[in-house]
Amino acid sequence: MALKIWKHSLPFLLVAVVMFGVAGYLYYDTYIVPRCEICGMSTIYGYREITTPDGRHHVACCPFCALLLVQKYPTFKIETKCDACGRKVVIEIENRQLKRVDPPTAYLIIGGTGLCKDNKMACCEECKEKLLAQAPPGSVAFPMEEAMRIAAHPVRKAWIWTPSPVPIIATAFLGGVSLALAFLMGRKR
Ligand SMILES: [Zn+2]
Ligand SMILES: [Zn+2]
Repeated sequence: MALKIWKHSLPFLLVAVVMFGVAGYLYYDTYIVPRCEICGMSTIYGYREITTPDGRHHVACCPFCALLLVQKYPTFKIETKCDACGRKVVIEIENRQLKRVDPPTAYLIIGGTGLCKDNKMACCEECKEKLLAQAPPGSVAFPMEEAMRIAAHPVRKAWIWTPSPVPIIATAFLGGVSLALAFLMGRKR
C-alpha cells in the first residue's frame, strides 16, 4: 500500500524539489550575486567604489556604467583607478552635474565593441594614448565633462536593467502545484 502511494507521488515530488531548487537558484542569481545597477552584468571590470550621500555603496561593472548611475542618483562619488597606470581617479557628481574630477585630465574611453569590458578610465593624456593603442577599433576617448553629458542624456534611461521576480515566482508556483499533485496522488490510492 505505502509503496503504491510512493510510486504515484514520487514523480511529482521530484518535480517539486527540482522547481524549488531552480526558484532558489534564480533568487540567488537575481538578488544575491552583485550585479551592475545599470546593465545587470555580474562581471565587474576593475576596482571601483561608488557611494551616494546616504552612505550606500553601488555596483557598476565598468566606468561608463558608473557614470550612467546619474540616471538613478543625482549625487554620488566614484573612486576608481586609471586602467593604464593605476593612479587613483575621483569623480564627484552633484545634481546630475560633474562637480569635480581629480585629476582633471581624466578620460573615459568607450570601447568600439560596445562591450562594457572595453570601457576604460585614463588619468591623463599619456595613459589615454596608451589605452587607445590597445583598444578595439572605433574606441573613443572623452574628457570627463563630455563623458558626463553622454551619460546624463535622458535617452539612456532606457538602458537601466531591473531585476525581475517573475521567473522566481513562476518556478516556485510550479513547485507548489507539483507538491499539491504529489499529495493528491498519494491520497487517491
Ligand atoms: Zn554595467
Ligand atoms: Zn594613468
